[in-house]
Amino acid sequence: MEYGPSVEDASAVRDWLRERATFGHFIAGRFTRPGEVFATTDPATGEELARVTQGSERDVAKAVRAARRAQRGWGMMPGHDRARFLYAIARTIQKRERFLAVLETLDNGKPIRESRDADIPLVVRHFYHHAGWAELAESEFPGHAALGVCGQIIPWNFPLLMLAWKVAPALAAGNTVVLKPAEYTPLTALAFAEICAHVGLPAGVVNIVTGDGATGAALVRAPVDKIAFTGSTGVGREIARAVAGTAKRLTLELGGKSPFVVMEDADLDAAVEGVVDSIWFNQGEVCCAGSRILVAESVAPRFEALLRARMEKLRPGPPLDKSTDIGAIVHPVQKQRILDLLDQAVAAGAELIGGQVGQGCRVAPGYLRNIAPSNPGMVQEIFGPIATLSTFRTPDEAADLANNTRYGLAASVWSESAANATDTAARIRAGVVWINCANVFDAAAPFGGIRDSGYGREGGREGMLDYLAVPAPPAPRDPAPPDIAAAVEDA
Ligand code: NAD
Repeated sequence: MEYGPSVEDASAVRDWLRERATFGHFIAGRFTRPGEVFATTDPATGEELARVTQGSERDVAKAVRAARRAQRGWGMMPGHDRARFLYAIARTIQKRERFLAVLETLDNGKPIRESRDADIPLVVRHFYHHAGWAELAESEFPGHAALGVCGQIIPWNFPLLMLAWKVAPALAAGNTVVLKPAEYTPLTALAFAEICAHVGLPAGVVNIVTGDGATGAALVRAPVDKIAFTGSTGVGREIARAVAGTAKRLTLELGGKSPFVVMEDADLDAAVEGVVDSIWFNQGEVCCAGSRILVAESVAPRFEALLRARMEKLRPGPPLDKSTDIGAIVHPVQKQRILDLLDQAVAAGAELIGGQVGQGCRVAPGYLRNIAPSNPGMVQEIFGPIATLSTFRTPDEAADLANNTRYGLAASVWSESAANATDTAARIRAGVVWINCANVFDAAAPFGGIRDSGYGREGGREGMLDYLAVPAPPAPRDPAPPDIAAAVEDA
């Protein structure tokens, strides 16, 4: 591949990968000897980046034991002492920002501009924010206690950011963790393990076990106190079944098919930029992507012309090139899933604009038009850079169409009238509704879904509460109450 002068220098990351080459797990503060390994690759080129270990049931058990041993000390530590570690982690990530952005882009295929300007700064912000919560833990959450050991399973679309969303609140609340990164993108989690060691985080507070879904399932079965999962709705359901009847707490952040509502009085240029941020960001591999564009019929032709012109200006290219807008889909398997669903959508009568298939893991941005509400492309999550475009006549119809989904993760509404925007926004059932913006995240704002998008929140006070328990009140000192059953029998 020809790299121009705007290509990010990856030599430091390549040296790091060459030195390590094969990774074990990170358990009790150190890397284990590698076991059975599999390769993780650069999806843009197919090049092998490193080998990582497939975590076995025994590896998971060992990590959970290490986390259990560490939890007592970590949970009893005053919040302001835990905060010092979280601040140190945030600062170290900030110092290694460039390195981590390149590593993320190589392993995932996302444009370097996005990993450098969005992913890693948000990771840093998340750790700083939760350092604050740790510092205030005793005064903000009086009478609360940590849950204990948390098993955390994350996807591949925002690898280090999803790790931050899971690890930062868990640690701030006094829990210890065993985290399993996605099999396609384990590298930044392993670099994070090195950061934990670097800042002197007590051994066992953070444990990273790599592997595929089988490793994840072993973690769900292990004696942990909570499972936090982000990924597909299907796997979320399996996990919910597996923990049913146990005392394990569970939070699920699953898929979405989020509406992007363009009202008649919207600023159409701004709305088109919103689509770029919403579905053509991160190749559309975003759980809260505004994947169903609903536009008022009266402005639809003008909107579509603007949309199409903007879409054609997006630059697919090498992920490490700073001018690339659309990188590579994370893995050939995922690319094939996208193409299969597009075939089904077209077979069911939709017209595909754009969406050309490129070499390697490339799918160009596009959208489906003339699409019926029951079309699979309209109902299922495509998880690629392809939106659907349909129209509505009245705000009532817009709200009905927006809610015509089994998901409820996010939505955005575009209107120059605050009254119209808030009116429609209030009628959409979703965990977050953005007005005149999309995919805006803040560590202080709780994020999460309803219905098939899962439950539980990440970020802010609500996110902290999902990692805390109100301990049972101490046993009463009074004599035990009379045995009512016996009393009834005696009567
Ligand atoms: P997935 O749900 O299969 O994988 C997510 C994580 O769960 C990975 O770490 C995986 O190893 C693990 N896992 C898989 N099976 C498991 C099991 N039985 N028990 C425990 N852990 C298990 O998702 P995927 O295959 O990577 O992607 C498939 C679809 O999921 C995508 O097309 C997309 O629709 C959706 N997805 C959603 C999000 C999100 O942020 N909500 C992220 C990625 C993918």
